[in-house]
Amino acid sequence: MQFFSTNRQSPDTNFEQAIFQGLPPDNGLYMPEEIPKLPVSFWDNCDKLSFNEIAFHVSEAFIGDLIAKETLMNILNEAYDFDTPLTRIDVNTYCLELFHGPSMAFKDFGAKFMAGVMSYFLKKSEQRINILVATSGDTGGAVAQGFFGKENITVTILYPKGKVSELQEKQLTTLGGNVSALEIDGTFDDCQALVKQAFLDVELKEKFSLASANSINIARLIPQAFYYIYAFSRLKALNKEIVFSVPSGNFGNLTAGLIAMKMGMPVKQFIAATNLNKVVPEYLNSGDYKPISPSIATISNAMDVGNPSNFPRMFEIFDKDIEKMKSKITGYFYDDEQTREGIKEIYGQKNYLTCPHSAIAYLGLKEYQKLNNSDAIGVFLSTAHYSKFLPDMEATLGYLPEIPERLKSLLDKTKKSEQLTTNYSDFKDYLLKNLK
Ligand SMILES: *Cc1c(COP(=O)(O)O)cnc(C)c1O
Repeated sequence: MQFFSTNRQSPDTNFEQAIFQGLPPDNGLYMPEEIPKLPVSFWDNCDKLSFNEIAFHVSEAFIGDLIAKETLMNILNEAYDFDTPLTRIDVNTYCLELFHGPSMAFKDFGAKFMAGVMSYFLKKSEQRINILVATSGDTGGAVAQGFFGKENITVTILYPKGKVSELQEKQLTTLGGNVSALEIDGTFDDCQALVKQAFLDVELKEKFSLASANSINIARLIPQAFYYIYAFSRLKALNKEIVFSVPSGNFGNLTAGLIAMKMGMPVKQFIAATNLNKVVPEYLNSGDYKPISPSIATISNAMDVGNPSNFPRMFEIFDKDIEKMKSKITGYFYDDEQTREGIKEIYGQKNYLTCPHSAIAYLGLKEYQKLNNSDAIGVFLSTAHYSKFLPDMEATLGYLPEIPERLKSLLDKTKKSEQLTTNYSDFKDYLLKNLK
């Protein structure tokens, strides 16, 4: 399987090259040259397969013989040692809970798979890499937890001092080992600028092998198709059409759903549910693609994206035809007030607590079901555990909801971080001393 750049100015590469490059040199995004269809026998039997067996068939279709079957299965078993429950909320509504991984958010699915395959390729070629990531919160946690303990890889995470939640900070700063956290006295943009400058620094590039763990990496996208197909497999016996509602920011999650569909998964419709950063819902309504800059701050802050980075991939999947896209994706957006009402509604009516992001997916699903008088089964994706957003949950509900045990023990751990200013030469000195 070869991968091409959506800008079509860079040479095609295989999976291994695409994941270490991250971005093609022409600044496009890597996409598989053809999305492989899984055989009829797979779709007939998928209800009898485990999550990891489904993940195996899906990933093998992209990776081919670059990784031996048994090794790939081992990588998946190591990555997905947690559950992915599909919880029934009412007769036609299910919640796909994607928050049972180490950072309690769905980005674990991409980060853990990427860490596993990268570490495998590096050991095989006896090479090592240094991953640099800037984070505003959620991505850093998933990358830190996903890459923790991986051989031949060190991870350096930059985060803005005082601008991530206590919990997010603990997820970044308490691991130690091959994961180091740098607390930058500045904004997320400052962190990103430092990382960018390091990637362009000739001296660093000569001394070390640097890589990013960006969400646009194809190794983070493909594994997100696993859970759509898993959800389908568990609902297949009901013999009904399925609608997936996806709380979206950069649209990697939704793009992975489209990949699952292209692989042969039957799906009636996707719902692109956003907060006020409603670029895609508006595009689907008006045909105008208008990025929002700067992005609007909301309580569903992991979706505060004014120019979704995966849009070119979605466009590619629909042959750059908005009518085709509209036939499979419906967009809805909600403000913070509606999001809070959504959290209260699903809790009041169904006794089920969701985070602000997941509540937006729930609202999108309900709106679709109502407007279309739809009898299809609705699955909304829950992308994070509510306890990652305690202050907003408390303000919405009027009391502090219960915190899971594993979170409490995380909060008790001691933070280890290095404090730095936004000065590049200090950052560079740190890297020269600490990278391997
Ligand atoms: C990253 C994130 C999203 C948005 O996912 P995209 O793939 O960027 O659309 C939604 N919810 C949570 C909790 C996230 O961390």
